[in-house]
Amino acid sequence: MTSSKKILICGGGIAGPACAYWLRQYGFSVVIAEKAMSFRDGGQNVDVKGAGQQVIRRMGLDDQVQALNTGECGQKWLDANGKVVAVFPKDGFGSLTSDFEILRGDFARLLFEATRDSCEYRFGRHVTDIVDGDEGALVIFDDGTQETFSLVICAEGLGSSTRSLKLGAQTRMRHLGAWMAFFKIPKRPGDDLWAHSVNGIGGTMINLRPGSATETTALVTFPAEPAELDGAAHRSRRDLLVAALQGRGTIADRLIDALDTVQDFYFGPLSQVQASTWSVGRLVLLGDAAHCPTPFTGKGTALSLVGAYVLAGELSKAASHTEAFRAYEALLRPYAEHCQQELSPRFVRLMHVRTPVGIAIARVLQRFFGSAPMQRLLTPSPARRARQVEEDFVLPVY
Ligand SMILES: Cc1cc2nc3c(=O)[nH]c(=O)nc-3n(C[C@H](O)[C@H](O)[C@H](O)COP(=O)(O)OP(=O)(O)OC[C@H]3O[C@@H](n4cnc5c(N)ncnc54)[C@H](O)[C@@H]3O)c2cc1C
Repeated sequence: MTSSKKILICGGGIAGPACAYWLRQYGFSVVIAEKAMSFRDGGQNVDVKGAGQQVIRRMGLDDQVQALNTGECGQKWLDANGKVVAVFPKDGFGSLTSDFEILRGDFARLLFEATRDSCEYRFGRHVTDIVDGDEGALVIFDDGTQETFSLVICAEGLGSSTRSLKLGAQTRMRHLGAWMAFFKIPKRPGDDLWAHSVNGIGGTMINLRPGSATETTALVTFPAEPAELDGAAHRSRRDLLVAALQGRGTIADRLIDALDTVQDFYFGPLSQVQASTWSVGRLVLLGDAAHCPTPFTGKGTALSLVGAYVLAGELSKAASHTEAFRAYEALLRPYAEHCQQELSPRFVRLMHVRTPVGIAIARVLQRFFGSAPMQRLLTPSPARRARQVEEDFVLPVY
């Protein structure tokens, strides 16, 4: 495609600005329409894994990402009252901590700063219709204005409305049988640089992780089908969360106490996006809008970065957008589906053990795999870890 084309990206989160960065490298002109009224901060610890790390290096952002690293040094499993059950150091076997640990808001800001001068950001704007034509896509915005773009890239995240507009029938949500809430709570002296994870009675799982100098991030997940929560629709999200935390020990009590004042509160289902096709006409899906794997996989951000790199690269070299969209999907879909399949409803059930016996078994396993001999046996060497990053997804060179 010729680089004189003007491309609209809907969504200024992670995938949108990352794709904008690469499109600008290839000379395209880029407009980003973001529904929020200003840059959208917020979110918790994202682990950038595998090929996502390679993309950050190719963008030359690795030093800046490392400077913002939360410094998390591994994961400790605790009992409901805070007693340590098992320790999984970073780089060891079974730890959730990766080499690139950054707060989502910090990372989104880095990408925003890297693109704000070269792209046109339009905040408080979203698409209400797209009409494909031979010369481009006529886009109608919520303020009634119309403009023609050669292509529209939809990077609106999990609940994308532009996707619903054009690819609604081709998309389904795969609910994994749990709900999640994330928010930030004031830091306490005991909140160190370790992630603290707790399995609780009834299946409620808590993760506390290092955030900023003054805040600790909290992720609470608990088993529930959508129908169970629809049935409780008259109750507030806070009440549902309190019910999941009540009687679950001192760490859960701390979260209940903090709930009235928390900022940055998210509550929603643990669901994956599965779309049978990622493009129609001049519209293409990118990031979570195409293939959200859920925050539980720790892969959403990495996948978005890889997708942004591949989509922009294919657009830079293909003769037409249809060819580029086809090549992008052919390259990325197997990787995205692999990341999604790592998390099945069965695995989520196993993670959220409900009974005292289940929790006792989980603790035995945590102690076993966290023991020094098992860690020595199973921890990959630095060379093996580096190979895993390289082999995760072989990034094309454009
Ligand atoms: C506020 C926030 C907090 C998050 N916190 C976490 C977290 O703690 N842990 C985690 O693993 N993941 C979190 N995520 C999700 C994570 O960012 C994504 O999984 C991943 O990085 C993929 O990014 P994305 O750009 O595809 O989607 P997102 O990061 O979700 O970005 C989508 C962007 O599109 C915008 N948008 C939505 N609808 C429209 C529309 N119709 N028109 C224009 N713009 C629209 C949104 O405001 C948002 O800025 C969060 C996302 C957001 C928006």
